[in-house]
Amino acid sequence: MKLTVVKESRPGEARVAMVPELVAKLTELGYAVAVEPDAGTPALYSDDEYAAVGATVDPAALSGAAVVLSVQPLTSQQVRRLQPGAATISFLSPAQALDLVAERRDVGITSFSMELVPRISRAQSMDALSSQALVAGYRCAIVAAQRLRRFFPLSMTAAGTITPAQVVVLGAGVAGLQAIATAKRLGAVVKAYDVRAAAAEEIRSMGATAIELDLETLEGAGGYAREMSEDRSARQREALSPYIAAADALITTAAVPGRQAPLLVTTEMVEQMKPGSVIIDLAAETGGNVEGAVAGSVVQVGGAQIWGAFNVPSQMPGPASKLYAQNLVNIVTLMTRDEAFAPDFDDEIVAGSCVTHAGQVTHAPTHELLEGGE
Ligand code: NAD
Repeated sequence: MKLTVVKESRPGEARVAMVPELVAKLTELGYAVAVEPDAGTPALYSDDEYAAVGATVDPAALSGAAVVLSVQPLTSQQVRRLQPGAATISFLSPAQALDLVAERRDVGITSFSMELVPRISRAQSMDALSSQALVAGYRCAIVAAQRLRRFFPLSMTAAGTITPAQVVVLGAGVAGLQAIATAKRLGAVVKAYDVRAAAAEEIRSMGATAIELDLETLEGAGGYAREMSEDRSARQREALSPYIAAADALITTAAVPGRQAPLLVTTEMVEQMKPGSVIIDLAAETGGNVEGAVAGSVVQVGGAQIWGAFNVPSQMPGPASKLYAQNLVNIVTLMTRDEAFAPDFDDEIVAGSCVTHAGQVTHAPTHELLEGGE
């Protein structure tokens, strides 16, 4: 069976869905692996490296493919080149791509969305949201350190003492915890806040101080956060203001599944920060935690600069691709039987991540959104 790895076409996407060192895992499963030319080039993997491990590098790699792997969803043009019944595995964000979903349904493509892989322990090795959040969290702390025009660590020298930078992290999920760990390793004094009760212990286990606010916690389904009411949101902003005013670097990573990112920091709060302060808003692409943040740009507000994140995992495409490719190998392995791609739709992971199959939209919330709009 032919398994194809595409060259990503979305601007700013430097990752690739499969790395040469994992191609053998797919051939062992029985797949003939085909790669579009230059698919790995932005992540610094050459065509020769893929060829050396037995993959075919072919401009027509999509034709006849049974399974197609990519980071971003295939374009409409690519989907129309697939044979009916072919399967795609990629990030898909179905709620934001209803037209692409409807097209896949109509063309008879089976699509799996990596965002929808259930977060159960059996699926941990397939959890691409976590693997990419890990990369993004690390990168955010490094960007903060690079943009801040002062030391992160304490430096005691014969010429005097330099005090360490004060870093505040809002949102302590996978990315936030990685940002905390990285800022700590660089020597900053780190404080962090999250609305989930369980997060305080995780923050402390990274060596940071958990900011305790006199506010109710917000646990939602599946260990995620719930959306804040406007009243709680205003009280949280007020209570966080002094911590933010004292920070040299602020890293925000807060998200609520299926919703716009919560607004945690207003312009007024930013204006109270010290000159030269740096804000890294990882949520800039989904509405922003910080008022005025623009994805992919740096905005100056008062004396502070706000770095709005845009596809941060792609800024470290080598390791991000390697982790994502391993997630894909694990999910493809789950869906392969007797050297054939044969997903078992009774399996919770398969059913949970499937968006379209056999001419139907199988993901209930997406189905509802489409029906409502048609
Ligand atoms: P996420 O990206 O959805 O959100 C990031 C963080 O923002 C979360 O910790 C959330 O609580 C926080 N947040 C939301 N609103 C906030 C607000 N108003 N103020 C401050 N913080 C706010 O989350 P994630 O990183 O994907 O992980 C969330 C949870 O899922 C964690 O408990 C994590 O341990 C768990 N998880 C489980 C698995 C698994 O079981 N396989 C895998 C990954 C993560």
